[in-house]
Formats: sequence, C-alpha cells, structure tokens
Amino acid sequence: MSVFKKIAIADLDKLFAKTSEKMSIYVPTDNKDGDAVYTEWKDGVKLSDAVNTLRSAKDFFFPQTENLAGFKLVGKTIEMYRTAEEKEDFVLFGVRACDVKSFAILDSVFLADPVDTFYAARREHGIVVALACNDANDTCFCKTFGIDPAEPGADVSAWKNADEMFFKANTDKGAAWLASVSDVLEDAENGEGVVADVKQSINEMMSTLPLSGLTTESFDGKNLLEAFNSPEWKDLSSTCLGCGTCTFYCPTCQCYDIREFDTGNGVKRFRCWDSCMYSDFTKMAAENPRHTQLERFRQRFMHKLVYYPMNNNGVYGCVGCGRCLAKCPISMNIVKVMKTVGKEKA
Ligand code: SF4
Ligand code: SF4
Repeated sequence: MSVFKKIAIADLDKLFAKTSEKMSIYVPTDNKDGDAVYTEWKDGVKLSDAVNTLRSAKDFFFPQTENLAGFKLVGKTIEMYRTAEEKEDFVLFGVRACDVKSFAILDSVFLADPVDTFYAARREHGIVVALACNDANDTCFCKTFGIDPAEPGADVSAWKNADEMFFKANTDKGAAWLASVSDVLEDAENGEGVVADVKQSINEMMSTLPLSGLTTESFDGKNLLEAFNSPEWKDLSSTCLGCGTCTFYCPTCQCYDIREFDTGNGVKRFRCWDSCMYSDFTKMAAENPRHTQLERFRQRFMHKLVYYPMNNNGVYGCVGCGRCLAKCPISMNIVKVMKTVGKEKA
C-alpha cells in the first residue's frame, strides 16, 4: 500500500466535511479584506491560496487571552476552581513549515518543567496538517533558519499540484486522522514521483526569493557582547513606536501577563499576550530592568538571534515567516537588524 494518500483539489470539501463529522477542522480562508485567516470549516468555507495566514497558527495553542482560574467566596472561605482545558480533538489544516517550526519553539518554553497544562492539553488534542509552499512571499526567509518549505513535517505533511493534494502521515495522531477520512481519499501510487516533482519546483522557486541568501553567520553565539554593544542599536531603535505589533504577529513570541478581574460575583485570573517592546513589560516593584526603547528593542532581537539559540542547541527564535517585515508600521524588522548588527548578507 502506498504511503501517500490523495484527493482531487476539487473534492477538498469532502475531506473537510468528513473530518467535521467527528471534530472541528480549521482551515485558512480569505476574509473580506483578502487576508487568509483560520476559520472553522463549514459548508461554503474555501481553502485560501495565500502563502500564509495573517495571524500565525500559534493562536490555537497559545491564545491571545484565556482564563486560567476562578475564585469565589463560599461562606467565609475562598474557593478556587480551574477553568476548562482542551478536551476535544481538532484539526489545524494547511499550516506552513515556518509556523510548524514555531510550535517546536513554543514547546521548548511551555512544555519545559513546570509544564503549562493549558498549552499541553491543546497540543495533545491538536492534529496539525502541514502544507508545503508552492509559492512564497518576497518577505519569506525560512531557509535562513534551516526550515524546508518543501518538507513541512507536523502530524501529516501535504503537497499539492494543480489538480491533486497528497498526504503522508508522520505521527500516530496523523495516521489516525488519515484513517478516519480514508473513505474520501485514494491510495496514491504516483505519490512518490509527484511529490518529488513538487519539492523540486519549490526548491527552485525558493532560490529566487530576495532573501534567499540571508545568513546567520554573525549570530553563532560567539559574539554575544559584540552584538549587545553594537552602536547600531541606537539608529535601528530610534523610530520604534513600541507598539508591539511585531511581537503579536510573531509565531514564536511567547511573553504573557497574568492578571485578575472582578466578575461581580467572584474573581477570574486570566492571561494575555504581552510584549517585550512595552515600557511596563517586566516592571517590578524595585524597578524596570529595561528603561529605554533601545534596551527593549535590543532585547527582542538579541533573544531571537543570540540568547535563545545559545540555550537551545543553536536553534534560532525566528522562523523567517516574514510577518514582522510586512506589518511593522515603521518598516523595521529582524532582517534589517541581522544585516546591520550582524552585517549579514542577503
Ligand atoms: S519594531 Fe515596529 S512593530 Fe515592533 S514595536 Fe517597534 S514600531 Fe512596533
Ligand atoms: S521575528 Fe518576524 S520573521 Fe521571525 S518569526 Fe517572528 S514575525 Fe516571523
């Protein structure tokens, strides 16, 4: 039996419908502004052709806000109760290789001891179907960080040509999902050859991108002080608005704040994304360790390019998705930092 399964692109709705009989399936679909956003599939929702989604897929595992616990008065005692953790399986369809890699970075934070049980429950129940990138944006540079958009990984990898989509399971969870939708899939005896051709054209396309030659040579962990003390940070950060847009679009940023609010009949504890670009981030009773926007700006990029790889076997904290290149209101981004502080070539 072939390791590949396939379906005609024209029949993808059948695959989504079959999945939705048992669990929710989220697919990138175009919104009214033409941006691809993850949407729960129902009749009429069409898979977007966009290279990547506006917001990254991290929202499914690390949502922008969530309640963690509640407190209520029972007589003279305060009772604490847990809020719900993810219990239902769901499919996240069409995730690109850069965002797949971002999950490994988030895992290294949230699944390290002590494990974040809210995140762990979502990871356990989420089945990620990754789709190879037949196209790319000029802002894409995943290859700089060793990510292969032709081999996207995850629970199931998918590739498509003009007429068909091919699937291969990489994990038990992925194999179980493919088995559950086998009625609408065919064995793909031609899978090996077609997928090899798709991979070759992806590799050819990637080598033509404007950032295809961007290197990380200066950020090898040996020049920490040189990078930290670079005089270039002053100019780079001088117009940064501290808006945090770059951190909120970033699939690998994982800073958060925890607060409580009064519901009127109790207290709820929630967490929400935070940003190292904000002036009150890590503010403590004693003082704020980073007083200026220069220090905050430098922290964000030093973390992704120097501190994180030094502590994670050389894996960088950026996956080259290009979202910050497209979204920063002053057109500042990690590529400019790499080229200026590290003198990297592109
Ligand atoms: S680098 Fe750009 S997006 Fe990020 S905080 Fe500064 S102005 Fe905002
Ligand atoms: S720093 Fe920018 S390019 Fe890198 S992962 Fe974050 S948003 Fe994407």
